[in-house]
Amino acid sequence: MQDAQLSRYSRQIMLPELDIQGQQQLNNSHVAIIGMGGLGSPAAMYLAAAGIGQLTLCDFDRVDLSNLQRQILHNSHDIGKHKTVSAQQHLQALNPECRIVQIQQKMHLSKMSELAANADVLLDCTDNFASRFALNQACVEQATPLVSAAAIRWEGQISVFSNEPDSACYQCLYPAEGEENQNCVNNGVIAPLVGIMGSMQALECIKLITATGSTLKGRLLTLNALDMSWREFKFLKDPDCKACSHAHS
Ligand SMILES: [Zn+2]
Repeated sequence: MQDAQLSRYSRQIMLPELDIQGQQQLNNSHVAIIGMGGLGSPAAMYLAAAGIGQLTLCDFDRVDLSNLQRQILHNSHDIGKHKTVSAQQHLQALNPECRIVQIQQKMHLSKMSELAANADVLLDCTDNFASRFALNQACVEQATPLVSAAAIRWEGQISVFSNEPDSACYQCLYPAEGEENQNCVNNGVIAPLVGIMGSMQALECIKLITATGSTLKGRLLTLNALDMSWREFKFLKDPDCKACSHAHS
């Protein structure tokens, strides 16, 4: 590691749980972030700053004025730009060592599978159930860990679906497809809440890559921001789950 890197990452390297070895694992890793909005913004910023080697950013949308209240990776000069373009410009300024790859298209299952096969960790920063189920399917098939979060109104949640055979997947937790599609476009969301949940996704991602501490595998953490109360729910693999029950047999 060069002097500039030792300096840039010194506050992480001095953590005994990471040390130089952990920092090198981060520098050699590839994380894919699906959705460059409210959750994807802080997640991408912290992962780029922390020294993830490659970030693949997926979003087909362009920056809109109504995004700026919470999507802090983009600013007023970016309105009209593709979100991945705006994201790349700002992330590259933050850390030129981070390699950024843009995917500017709606993600279909085959593309998600390709992404899951190539990435060490996937971050689900989308805002709809169809994408969440498809991303989960791709991660189960490719045995890629998935860090999933959501935020709506004053409520946030996050969990980790790991690639171990006994680990539950997103669909073990939410078996019912066709659930009413709630998103912040229709329901609103308080700005810092997406920052909290997206930052937690970055943190869980770093722990997965460096095998540090215990992740939220098998645990769903929810936040009610109105009274700042956290709750934790444990969940198990569903032996009849349509997505993962045959994946490792
Ligand atoms: Zn499952």
